[in-house]
Amino acid sequence: MKGFLRIQDDAVVEVCEGSPPAESTNALVLPSFINAHTHIGDSLAYPAPKGSVEEVVAPSSGYKHRILRSASRSAKIDAMREAMILMSASGTSHFVDYREEGLEGVRALSEAMVDVSPRAMVLGRPLSAEATEDELDAILGSCDGIGMSAVRDWPFDLLKRVSGKAKAAGKVFSVHASEAVNEDIDQVLDLKPDFLVHMVKATDGDLERCADAEIPVVVCPRSNEFFGLEPVITRLVHAGIHVALGTDNGMIARPDMIEELKAAFRVSKRRGGITPLEAVNLATFGGRKVLNATAKITSEIGTRSDLSVVAVAGADPLSEMVTSASSKNVQAIIRGGKVWRPESWKA
Ligand SMILES: [Zn+2]
Repeated sequence: MKGFLRIQDDAVVEVCEGSPPAESTNALVLPSFINAHTHIGDSLAYPAPKGSVEEVVAPSSGYKHRILRSASRSAKIDAMREAMILMSASGTSHFVDYREEGLEGVRALSEAMVDVSPRAMVLGRPLSAEATEDELDAILGSCDGIGMSAVRDWPFDLLKRVSGKAKAAGKVFSVHASEAVNEDIDQVLDLKPDFLVHMVKATDGDLERCADAEIPVVVCPRSNEFFGLEPVITRLVHAGIHVALGTDNGMIARPDMIEELKAAFRVSKRRGGITPLEAVNLATFGGRKVLNATAKITSEIGTRSDLSVVAVAGADPLSEMVTSASSKNVQAIIRGGKVWRPESWKA
């Protein structure tokens, strides 16, 4: 849609439809990006060595967990802060982080936050399968819910217990599912997840069940590519599932949503493809659906909205977004109607 924003003193004063005045700058104005799946805690381990999901990320002996155990607290906090500033500067207003390292991990993320950090939905998890009730209560009391690694990483009774406690507390429960191998959809749905991550190895029947249960799925194409996996974006979209995009592990890919939506568009081509608009929607409205699990934000656009302003050169800005755009083209980030310039944000 053609329109323009009137900006005065770094605040949006009017959202207008129609042809802009001649003095306007040419840009694509999008709802801000929602990064629906991150692990920014392992940003300090970038770049991760090549390996299988098991070797690189599985608890507790994978590369990621070895690095997290050996790194200092301050190094982890610095890396998280840097990741959040990068997210903001590249147009992301909200992210959903799967925090490792139990209660301490949740606390470290809070400490890493600065004024310009995007708003976070923080999903903690217990340190081990032997978690006590007190430990689980403390984690749930200090964040937005629970985000577990693969279903197969944990005893099912622990997952049931954690999910039940999260729901009883009115918080989010989410889990990675069918990333490297197919996991039992009955078990997955029995956990009443608010949303799932990956579903790369899901069968058509599994996807149908998710669509029926209206459970959004977050896909992470660059992370999948790293592990030699193929995200099933077109199958998810065609199954009628709400799909969102996430950048996954900070040690695998920088949390830059423009790079992620370009990857979503590129990898989908092998399976019939998605349109540039669909790719942009995954990064914007798709994530809003995930956040609406806790009714935190809406997708209406007005003078108080969260928006990203991306410079474009040609007549087909959406095609530019999925091919040649980069975070360097982000001219402004608008948060609650206030305009920020990314060049003023330094790590
Ligand atoms: Zn993940």
